[in-house]
Amino acid sequence: MRIDLLGGFGEKGRTSLAVRRPSGRVLFDLGIKVGASGAEYYPALQGPVDDIEAVLISHAHEDHIGALSWLLAKGFRGRILMTAETKAEAPATLAGYADPADLRGHPFPAGRVELFMPGDTLRIAGLEIATGRSGHVVGGVWFAIGDGARRLVYCADVVPESAVFVMDPIPACDLLVFDASYGADPVPGAKRAEAIGRWIAARPQGCLLPTPLFGRSLELIAAIDRPFAVHAAMRPALEAQVEAGPALSPGIADTLRHRLAGAGDWRDGDPLPATPLLCDDGMGQAGPSAQLLPQAAAQAYPVLLTGHLPANSPGERLYAEGKADWIRMPTHPTLAGNVAIWEKAGRPAAIGHSCPPADLAALKPHITTLRDECRTGDSVTVP
Ligand SMILES: [Zn+2]
Repeated sequence: MRIDLLGGFGEKGRTSLAVRRPSGRVLFDLGIKVGASGAEYYPALQGPVDDIEAVLISHAHEDHIGALSWLLAKGFRGRILMTAETKAEAPATLAGYADPADLRGHPFPAGRVELFMPGDTLRIAGLEIATGRSGHVVGGVWFAIGDGARRLVYCADVVPESAVFVMDPIPACDLLVFDASYGADPVPGAKRAEAIGRWIAARPQGCLLPTPLFGRSLELIAAIDRPFAVHAAMRPALEAQVEAGPALSPGIADTLRHRLAGAGDWRDGDPLPATPLLCDDGMGQAGPSAQLLPQAAAQAYPVLLTGHLPANSPGERLYAEGKADWIRMPTHPTLAGNVAIWEKAGRPAAIGHSCPPADLAALKPHITTLRDECRTGDSVTVP
């Protein structure tokens, strides 16, 4: 089995890989890279696209789906597969991150999308593709891709230690393409959640918590044990995630539902509240955060960033200027989580995605089969 690393290798963003088949290529994810411009914004996919048989999407974050309109604009006519939740979230992500001209010419093709459920096994281009819940967002999945001789696992984004979402175990494989977003960060999620709780408690005048609409928002709500507000536009999506049934850990839905019901609705033009205020996105690039981050900075209203800050994003600039704090709320594996995934998979050859080269080098002593030299643009054979 031969695969092409199309994006997210030695870098964060534009995550994408292709499995080559005699009948054509099967693509997994098609992200964009926030902070990049030109060709580097999109996966490194050169030449015609008419040999792409199918695109499977793991979840609707921009670094995994943001280039879908771009591929459609290049003339892609193959199959598109994702879960119902990813399908529901995709238009909002494309609205925030797709090239406006691409999106106008090629809006999200909802009628063309084929749905699958997390846990389903798909058969495409002679591949048997098993899926499992990712623990990262509602409807998010990992893929285990077999050709009869070898098995490749593409984790996409997973969270082994989520307080909110369930992750299904990763099966044994010959090559593990895993979520290395946090490099060798050893601090467990529960410790980070406590630190975030303490930071919020120390700011009784209120504070801004920028967060992606899907996934991390629920992790934050689980970590805030005091009154808070949400940007009113977020509420329908938050409520839908709380009601996502089997995606959530047993017992947590009641807590989240109760907290969300008690949360205030904040609307554009309201004064900034004397409580924590959740707004999306997580980096000030799109959504209400694009307005709220500068407003908070201008009024010296405390801001806590809790996720990845792409270079040149408003969040990164604010943090660099000392006008925002940052504590990671893990929505990707920390060191122990990735080592456990790799060991359960049988200590296979491994390639990390979604982090810079230095973070891969830091992981190498812990995941000894790691091919830390792999970069976007490379092709590799599953051993
Ligand atoms: Zn993600």
